Amino acid sequence: MWEKLAQLKKKYLSLLEKVENQEELESLRIEILGRKGVLTSLLKGIKDLPPELKPEVGKQANQFKALITSLLSKKQEELKSKKEHSFDYTLPAFPIYKGKLHPLTRVTKEILDIFQHLGFQVFTGPEIETDHYNFQSLNFPPDHPARDVQDSFHLKGEYLLRTQTSPVQIRVMEKYPPPIRMISPGRCFRRDTPDATHLPMFHQIEGLAVDKNIRFTDLKGVLGEFVHAFFGEEVKMRFTPSYFPFTEPSAEASISCIICAGKGCRTCSFTGWLEILGAGMVHPNVLKAVNYNPERYTGFAFGMGVERITMLKFGINDIRLLYENDIRFLRQI
Ligand SMILES: [Zn+2]
Repeated sequence: MWEKLAQLKKKYLSLLEKVENQEELESLRIEILGRKGVLTSLLKGIKDLPPELKPEVGKQANQFKALITSLLSKKQEELKSKKEHSFDYTLPAFPIYKGKLHPLTRVTKEILDIFQHLGFQVFTGPEIETDHYNFQSLNFPPDHPARDVQDSFHLKGEYLLRTQTSPVQIRVMEKYPPPIRMISPGRCFRRDTPDATHLPMFHQIEGLAVDKNIRFTDLKGVLGEFVHAFFGEEVKMRFTPSYFPFTEPSAEASISCIICAGKGCRTCSFTGWLEILGAGMVHPNVLKAVNYNPERYTGFAFGMGVERITMLKFGINDIRLLYENDIRFLRQI
């Protein structure tokens, strides 16, 4: 009896080692512990043993039963995790997503790159500005509606979060004499309620050129170069009259609709044109504010919203998508 038990132990422990799948494991379990299993019949046989042997054999047999039961379930776990971690070479590969820059960053870089090639130098300025730089020096009259506390985020005293990147023009002109060719990207803040086209925080890119004999045609030439480089050679540009306190005359530049090629669609409100930026000749008062002589120097300035340009470029219909960081959206563009 002892010997039989020892043999069973040896045989089945080694068989268990070799088990490779759930089916083999299950048939081994039945062979040992099943109703007609070897261990089951051995346990049944104990009752026919001489009484003095019964306790010890019973104890050994039950210990073996406990051991084999725990080894069987351990093996089952092992097979399960092996299955989970096994590699099926015939399955299609997971798509690999490379990290990339956010669309706003990419568009900003692309715009700056175009203007840098045209000889413009990049400058940045503070996001917390004074009323002087944000409004006064840019020829905003004291009663201009943009100065309303409803429209800007006012901080303590004369400070506010800049509502436009235009104050950087003033800071650069104060520091350097003409000629100036500058471009300035940055964050701006206005008290807008978020909707599909507005956010209280957004990005602008501002450009300025001041020199002798700068004319309106120079502005149109530079912006035309930009439009063709950024949106494509086939895209047309047109100017319509507009108003900004810091330019005179002022214009709004539009491009032929890149969705419908000018035929008229919902994006362009069936006009065939999309407004992309504001521009104009620098107002003499702005030049005076930085001690440039408006009799000797003239200049042009322009400013565009990076979010709007990005939305047009990628056909995005809601500005908020650019800030939700939904990976499914970002992977598409
Ligand atoms: Zn259109």
